[in-house]
Amino acid sequence: MGLEEKLPSGIMLTTVEKLAGYIRKSSLWPASFGLACCAIEMMATTTAKYDLSRFGMEVFRGSPRQADLMIVAGRLSNKMAPVLRQIYDQMAGPKWVLAMGACASSGGMFNNYAIVQGVDHIVPVDIYLPGCPPRPEMLMNAIIKLHEQISDTKLGANRAQIIREVEAAALASKPVHQITGLLA
Ligand code: SF4
Repeated sequence: MGLEEKLPSGIMLTTVEKLAGYIRKSSLWPASFGLACCAIEMMATTTAKYDLSRFGMEVFRGSPRQADLMIVAGRLSNKMAPVLRQIYDQMAGPKWVLAMGACASSGGMFNNYAIVQGVDHIVPVDIYLPGCPPRPEMLMNAIIKLHEQISDTKLGANRAQIIREVEAAALASKPVHQITGLLA
């Protein structure tokens, strides 16, 4: 348990949340990790034309210990999956994952035994980006959406409250076959 979990609720916590969210979203450092064709678009995002440096993110880190954003750009093979997980585990926390493109999000057109059918089987994904490949503008849009998500991250007692609410909603929800009436 870290310091974040021990923060008491109240007006001070809300202020700390806002400050931490602003600092975290303004200092995202991506790990250098490209898997396939989508990685070319990811690299293009850092060029002068698209200028990812406007968000302070032009420096892709060579070491996972200096990175807190993993952009999974491309299809993930079963052979590569343990490496992806190891890099994720070595990244500094708090950390975020962006699944870039149809292949990273769902396996894409590669519905076969060699490709992982969505990287969320291997690492927790915070945001999915559709497309084959998504253009650099789409990647920047996904990063801006992720910034909003990070800014709204709750800490301490507020986070514990959200987790309780989400778990209660999950327990109260009906099984999919009852909603769709498939087995009725
Ligand atoms: S989504 Fe398309 S561009 Fe991206 S890795 Fe798959 S095949 Fe390549």
